[in-house]
Amino acid sequence: MLKEKTVIVTGGAKGIGKAIALAFAKEGANIVLNYRSTVSDELIKEIENFGVKCLTIKADVSNFEEAREVVEKAKEEFGSVDILINNAGITRDNLLLKMTEEDFDSVINTNLKGAFNMIKHASKIMLKQKSGSIINMSSVVGLTGNAGQVNYSASKAGMIGMTFSTARELASRGITCNAIAPGFITTDMTDVLPDKIKETILNTIPLKRFGETEEIATTAVFLAKNKYITGQVISVDGGMVMA
Ligand code: NDP
Repeated sequence: MLKEKTVIVTGGAKGIGKAIALAFAKEGANIVLNYRSTVSDELIKEIENFGVKCLTIKADVSNFEEAREVVEKAKEEFGSVDILINNAGITRDNLLLKMTEEDFDSVINTNLKGAFNMIKHASKIMLKQKSGSIINMSSVVGLTGNAGQVNYSASKAGMIGMTFSTARELASRGITCNAIAPGFITTDMTDVLPDKIKETILNTIPLKRFGETEEIATTAVFLAKNKYITGQVISVDGGMVMA
């Protein structure tokens, strides 16, 4: 179903984004891999080994014009934009009293405004195509909140509201929009947590382990394939949030 589709993955050079890029390549989709600092030649080769094309584009998604460029170059190269995965994200954790304005703004600008920028540009093309799938990487803390993450949880909760509104606006044109809310997944983002905090988190996970990046990637592939799921938040969190 995904053969020769065009997938844009933001922040795709490592972690969850990298696993998503590889999972879609395995399905035969052409990959537009956005990165901010660097992307390794090995990853590009790994993607191309699935017999698909990989276009890498350096851009900061929080910048409206740079986000436009990612979408335009994708369309230019492959002729369509079928799937958009808003994965790029950062944390700047601190307790509310110590959190700076810069900590707040940078997280909102990357995680929430970055997703808006990409959706704004990609949806124009998807509307003309009358098809498309948008997947936003939210987080368990967008549903529950978390001490030390006022900025991050606000950005991730915002992405959920954005998902619902986008899904409602674009549904009549055959475009779906969903969010994934990962729990704690083993990546650079969670590696930096002190062992004591990791242990505390582990005790809150019913399945008693951190998740793997591939477990998020398979969920993204599932959502991209299913054209009758829209406006949903899929928790992939070892049972942390049960609703
Ligand atoms: P990583 O830190 O491993 O990867 C994040 C990626 O986003 C990096 O490649 C980074 O590039 C890129 N990025 C950051 N800012 C920008 C920007 N402005 N423009 C373009 N790319 C950018 O994190 P994860 O893989 O763990 O996280 C991926 C997503 O999943 C994030 O949105 C995160 O919030 C979310 N998530 C992760 C969880 C986890 O437990 N790991 C849990 C819940 C949600 P660079 O390295 O060059 O800065």
